[in-house]
Amino acid sequence: MSAPVHPADAHDLIRVRGARENNLRDLSLDLPKRRLTVFTGVSGSGKSSLVFGTIAAESQRMINETYSSFVQGFMPQLARPDVDSLEGLTTAIIVDQERMGANVRSTVGTVTDANAYLRTLFSRLAEPHVGGPGAFSFNVPSVSAAGAMTVQKGARTIAERTTFSRVGGMCPRCEGMGTLTDLDRTELYDEDKSLEEGPFLVPGYSAGGWYEKLFASSGFFPADKPIRSFTERQLHDFLYKEPTKVKLEGANMTYEGLIPKIQKSMLSKDRDSMQPHIRAFVDRAVTFIVCPECEGTRLAEHARTSRIDGRSISDVCAMQISELAAWVRRLREQNTSAQVAPLLQNLSELLDAFTEIGLGYLSLDRPSGTLSGGESQRTRMIRHLGSALTDVTYVFDEPTIGLHPHDIATMNALLVDLRDKGNTVLVVEHKPEAIAIADHVVDLGPRAGAEGGSVQYQGDLAGLRVSGTLTGTHLDRRISLKKTVRTPAGALEIRGADHHNLQSVDVDIPLGVLTVITGVAGSGKSSLVHGSMPKDAGAIVVDQTAIRGSRRSNPATFTGLLEPIRKAFAKANGVRPALFSNNSEGACPVCKGAGMIYTELGFMETVATVCEECEGRRFRADVLEHRFGGKDIAEVLALSVAQARELFSAAGTAVPAAAKLLGHLDDVGLGYLTIGQPLTTLSGGERQRLKLATHLRDAGGIFVLDEPTTGLHLADVDQLLALLDRLVDSGKSVIVIEHHQAVMAHADHLIDLGPGAGADGGRIVFQGTPAELVADASTLTGRHLKEYIG
Ligand code: ADP
Ligand code: ADP
Ligand code: ZN
Ligand code: ZN
Repeated sequence: MSAPVHPADAHDLIRVRGARENNLRDLSLDLPKRRLTVFTGVSGSGKSSLVFGTIAAESQRMINETYSSFVQGFMPQLARPDVDSLEGLTTAIIVDQERMGANVRSTVGTVTDANAYLRTLFSRLAEPHVGGPGAFSFNVPSVSAAGAMTVQKGARTIAERTTFSRVGGMCPRCEGMGTLTDLDRTELYDEDKSLEEGPFLVPGYSAGGWYEKLFASSGFFPADKPIRSFTERQLHDFLYKEPTKVKLEGANMTYEGLIPKIQKSMLSKDRDSMQPHIRAFVDRAVTFIVCPECEGTRLAEHARTSRIDGRSISDVCAMQISELAAWVRRLREQNTSAQVAPLLQNLSELLDAFTEIGLGYLSLDRPSGTLSGGESQRTRMIRHLGSALTDVTYVFDEPTIGLHPHDIATMNALLVDLRDKGNTVLVVEHKPEAIAIADHVVDLGPRAGAEGGSVQYQGDLAGLRVSGTLTGTHLDRRISLKKTVRTPAGALEIRGADHHNLQSVDVDIPLGVLTVITGVAGSGKSSLVHGSMPKDAGAIVVDQTAIRGSRRSNPATFTGLLEPIRKAFAKANGVRPALFSNNSEGACPVCKGAGMIYTELGFMETVATVCEECEGRRFRADVLEHRFGGKDIAEVLALSVAQARELFSAAGTAVPAAAKLLGHLDDVGLGYLTIGQPLTTLSGGERQRLKLATHLRDAGGIFVLDEPTTGLHLADVDQLLALLDRLVDSGKSVIVIEHHQAVMAHADHLIDLGPGAGADGGRIVFQGTPAELVADASTLTGRHLKEYIG
């Protein structure tokens, strides 16, 4: 029961008045402080716009204003969210599913401070002894320098010779990466051919083309002999020669060996922004090899070889965290010295927090870029569990993503704990088990986009149940198990799979049906479907990973929808289609078609502000004079999928190619999405559904989806299930990793992995129909599903 809110408690409220960010309809509400509030509503109803876009955004903006005016001089003014007033805000800490940067140096250990503790521990206890902070850090290079330095001593300036050196832990060969990139030469050229015969297999290096001429006439090797016959010196110049001036057809040119040339021109680019044929080449040609010097440990020799209790720092970072926690506990029993006892205690508590939060199966050396959205959110949560801060507003985005029903209770306990320390906890959630712990519920709706953005209900859970809202009516709904299941048409045979923790798994994944893979987090579901598929299976993986590319990308450009729209505008106005593309000359010259100005700041996140020139409309004023169906291109890009579908289907403004693509987007539940919304603002679930939409036209095929219910309301899940059914009925095979019990109940075939996580998992503990799973009460998944169907 939530605490009743009396007017006298006004200082115990966060008061939102007149919120209009995105689709919010001039919304006003009060949220109880130091309580746990859950925000519900169909996807696109406005939950993120309220919680992240208004409350958390304003709190962060106010924090920025506390920087000195000197620092603020370097920061653009953050736009104030569109809201009349916000009162009673406290510092907001956002713990969302944004994946941790692709920074290859960041690991689970570095982002949680566990490595910092371990480094200090090793510098104190390891034998042989190498002291000094940084000696065990793979991010700190060793430096030694000698030189003159001027020193001010009283009134005199004296020059002194100094030597400076620092012992860092970074492996000098791979610079702390653990891997080296290499190019597979057989993908670069055919060594049986001579330069005159066109040996190159690199895109852009065509026979008779410019590069070939440059190589053939460089004079460093014979042009008429096969490459395999080159001398060692000639081959070295061909592959590695440093940039050197040469003459080609009378012009001065620079010759450079093939490998550095490819590395500079192709490998230095972001993989996702490459043209598809270049990307395909890079994927073929680039290989990663484990650094031969540090054997992938990233560490310099001294750091690799000193040990505690027989283990080096890289050994302990490679251990499963639950096992490492046990090792540290043993160390604590042996070392009671005041010098390390507090350190060991802190480390112990931190490692135990991993296990508590369901991440005990990870290792500290795991690159943070390989964590799923849910794992990454829980990893960041660890920093806050031991925090002594109170009166902070914590904001979570579906914290139960990636958690088996069995683990939800633990997550709930952690959220309640944060609240009990005197913090305000705001959570966006969809699962009934997670909504169940709310002190206060705010339900937004009634639908998505323009049909949402109002408060449907606010109050306690009992009230929600009888509120008659979509959320209220779905809350206690019980799903019935599928009575008859489809008959498979063949199977994908996986034999001896041993990727990551899999323990030589043999399994047949049936084709032509809906297969659901279940199991606790870390049991090996992803390892099975992403790492163990037969190479020739040709599965289409539709996941939640970021769609990188330029900031001008949006659903219209990503799906190809902009093509027919541009043509329609061009035809109606007698101008060239290119004008209507926001990366063309038609784009606003100031923001280059992004509509926003992005400012990169070294010391905080990148800040986006609306472009003043075009006011966010992205196009030149004269381009906006051209209209189609009464709308300019910026107005069309501001339509939702559903509205655009209506426009491009209506008599007089019909554009069948556009209407068809929009139909696919509507089918995957994205009808509310603005077609010009930057891809960078989409949630993981929305990205996955967008990718799915682009594959709907493919015939046949095997689809692999990773928790497609992410971001979906119980009512949206029905629509997703109908879509999955349509996919299967049209001849596709669908394999889904899921924790949502409505999806499990709907499967034709279930494969349950476990029994535990990491080394305790990696086996198939059940396979069969949902009814068989429930009847066989031996697995955790079966027991939970049984409860769910009631
Ligand atoms: P929820 O969190 O409930 O899924 P959102 O707050 O993300 O809903 O979205 C509410 C509406 O606002 C949707 O119609 C969505 O397309 C739109 N919207 C969200 N973010 C943006 C944005 N950055 N630009 C334009 N429209 C947006
Ligand atoms: P699930 O999908 O069931 O959550 P995963 O297949 O992701 O489980 O993980 C199974 C085991 O494999 C875990 O112990 C996990 O730490 C390990 N693992 C998964 N991905 C990687 C990776 N990229 N590198 C190293 N270990 C991994
Ligand atoms: Zn190395
Ligand atoms: Zn502009």
